[in-house]
Amino acid sequence: VAELPAFGMDNSYARDLPGTYLAVKPAPAPAPRLLRFNAGLARDLGLPLTGQEAWLADLFAGNALPPDAEPLAQAYAGHQFGGFSPQLGDGRALLLGEVVAPDGRRFDLQFKGSGRTPFSRGGDGKAAVGPVLREYLIGEAMAALGVPTTRALAAVATGEPVFRETELPGAVLTRVAASHLRVGTFQFFAARKDAAQVRALADYAIRRHHPEAAGAENPHLALFDAVAAAQARLVAQWMALGFIHGVMNTDNMTISGETIDYGPCAFMEAYAPGTVFSSIDRQGRYAYANQPLILVWNLARLAEAMLGLFSPDADRAIEIANDRLQAVTPLYEAEWLRLMRAKLGLAGEGAGADEGAGAGGNLDGSGGDRALAEDLLALMQAAGADWTMTFRALSRATEDDGPVLAILGSGGTDAARGWLARWRRRIDAGSAARMRAANPAFIPRNHLVEEALAAATAGDMAPFERLLAVITRPFDDQQGQEAFALPAPTGFTEGYRTF
Ligand code: AMP
Ligand code: MG
Ligand code: MG
Repeated sequence: VAELPAFGMDNSYARDLPGTYLAVKPAPAPAPRLLRFNAGLARDLGLPLTGQEAWLADLFAGNALPPDAEPLAQAYAGHQFGGFSPQLGDGRALLLGEVVAPDGRRFDLQFKGSGRTPFSRGGDGKAAVGPVLREYLIGEAMAALGVPTTRALAAVATGEPVFRETELPGAVLTRVAASHLRVGTFQFFAARKDAAQVRALADYAIRRHHPEAAGAENPHLALFDAVAAAQARLVAQWMALGFIHGVMNTDNMTISGETIDYGPCAFMEAYAPGTVFSSIDRQGRYAYANQPLILVWNLARLAEAMLGLFSPDADRAIEIANDRLQAVTPLYEAEWLRLMRAKLGLAGEGAGADEGAGAGGNLDGSGGDRALAEDLLALMQAAGADWTMTFRALSRATEDDGPVLAILGSGGTDAARGWLARWRRRIDAGSAARMRAANPAFIPRNHLVEEALAAATAGDMAPFERLLAVITRPFDDQQGQEAFALPAPTGFTEGYRTF
């Protein structure tokens, strides 16, 4: 292996937060093979990599690290499906260090699947090709869709088997994140009554993610508000795209407000609020429509962990926390309405705005953008309409409403025509263009993701490459790629489960 260049790392987590991590080396991989390298992302990060280096596979397998990497496993706790685990931590991940991109933004570089750590519990510390490439694909799709997200820099097959239900080829994902600070990171130290470490984490989070909070009367309270706002905006974006995270445990909710940990996630096709895909979510806790409720529940856990920073008086701190938590749902609702206005092509808050005209608030049902959006959702639900196709077809309905009527048809054509008539009174000449920029044609369709991952597991990366190319241009009408925009064949979605 060649001598690796330094990456220009500046490892603030290692330097500023002793006691929150353990130094751990990645396990060597016997026969690393590069599956995918994200050259565009490497360029944006200013990394000294072109994609042609012979040692890329060794680098991204952890066999040869840049001299300025300081690999470490981060401690964190978390509520998993509602139950508290006081110690989770990086059981199969390692933070290599941080890079500051040419645009000044700081990013973590992290391995996932790089072997056991002191936090591994019973786990093997490994990851399989399929899940690694799922995270690669969905993260890149989310980035192209404009959703804050961790991103994949590389995926490497290790040449080693991992044992799940069956024997699978092993892999390591290298991911890039604004940071890996989680709600669960705060919970780890709060559960140990380590107030000094909670304060150190909060101060670090302010410096790294929410520097505007530093000037507030209570910077830690301002940090909480900033995290709540970032997460509320994020979940509103998920909802607008029909994205179901699948594991909104507090260890999977970031302080930065980025989406993290694409495990049993999926995009909903036919609109049904109760949709669940995750094989491990037996109660439907993280169903599509529950995500805004879980957002608040998780923020309540963050508030609990930060209570000591809100006020030295415990009762007062709880009062403050409750007050702040009350503000989250209205903030989420406002953000959701803003995104729905964009999806429906409605400018500003013009005529027919929200005031006093919630669903059913008007006798003729014509007032209120929220009612307009909710009434469309009711038609979609009744018709089992594909979420993504409905909004994309609506983007063209100013010229031709045939396709959207066909999609909504079985829900009652008269009702759909009535809704379109109301919508037409509210749109303007710029609506069609705005809608095409807000409503993707292409999302990672579940059946295509599964096809690509199955082929990759069997050694063929071609379907993965084709799908990645399409879903990273989600808003373009891509001639000849129409099949990628269609929902799964009949029968696929019934019983579809992600892992
Ligand atoms: P996740 O479900 O991926 O969010 O992970 C929850 C916790 O389980 C984290 O502490 C992970 O590091 C740990 N974990 C998940 N898979 C493994 C594995 N194969 N080996 C060791 N730890 C794991
Ligand atoms: Mg996780
Ligand atoms: Mg995971």
